[in-house]
Amino acid sequence: MKAEKGLTKERVIHQKKSISRGRVNINDVTISFGSGANKNIAVETTTLDIPPGEFVCILGPSGCGKSTLLNSVAGYIKPASGQVLLDEKEVTQPGPDRGMVFQQHSLFPWKTVHENIAFGPKIAGHSQKECDSIANTFLSMIGLQGMAGKLPGELSGGMQQRVGIARALANYPSVLLMDEPFGALDAQTRLIMQESLLNIWSEFGTTVLFITHDVDEAIFLADRILIMSAGPGSIIADLNVELPRPRHSDIATSEEFVDLKRKCLSHIRKESLKAFECSTNH
Ligand code: ADP
Ligand code: MG
Repeated sequence: MKAEKGLTKERVIHQKKSISRGRVNINDVTISFGSGANKNIAVETTTLDIPPGEFVCILGPSGCGKSTLLNSVAGYIKPASGQVLLDEKEVTQPGPDRGMVFQQHSLFPWKTVHENIAFGPKIAGHSQKECDSIANTFLSMIGLQGMAGKLPGELSGGMQQRVGIARALANYPSVLLMDEPFGALDAQTRLIMQESLLNIWSEFGTTVLFITHDVDEAIFLADRILIMSAGPGSIIADLNVELPRPRHSDIATSEEFVDLKRKCLSHIRKESLKAFECSTNH
């Protein structure tokens, strides 16, 4: 009887704290580091409208400004000019409405899996009972109920990243910001994680900005792919991914997938050639 009551309460809290889907607007944003002769423009006059609930992948080579752009949405970096808006409100600092997942080091190593997930709700002022309930909801969403009492160091890399996602979602963010979250995983675990993320997203449905330098990963996950080029960073292509959902890894051999991959690679190649020609002309 007790267990039944607990379960009901979990569901109630999950419904009450209903899922929100934020709209992200990036308006004429330029971001630079340093000044004078050492000034480095990392992102140049970029404008984007990301509608609520869209899964967007930002694809580009190392150093092109992907993390910088994401960090401006997170509120860690202030643009030199232009504005970042979340649901029409200017972003000026980090906040629980934006959940972050990094490549690694996103968990507290001294806290258990359960405590890591319950941390955000606790800071937000929820009672211990509510925190436990929220943590249990997300533990079951990521399929790691059996690992609640473990420390992150006792889990595999893939499991740690699933806990990182659950921890970010436990704040019920309106945008999930993911910076190459599967970059440190082996190829096989990575595929499983991509499917697992899509399953979680199909249930949670928040807006996602996902950074990657892997073309296949971007096509598999996204509704829309933004390709960024370096020097200074800007969006050079904005492509819709019309592949049906739910997606499974065998979709990578479909004609639509291969066509889109060709398109992405051709944009990337054109930019790399430009950069190559620039460097050999100097
Ligand atoms: P990416 O995530 O695409 O690999 P970054 O956004 O990390 O690229 O970096 C874009 C550019 O901005 C690079 O030239 C990088 O050296 C520079 N940069 C990033 N962060 C800083 C910082 N905190 N201080 C100075 N330069 C930075
Ligand atoms: Mg980066």
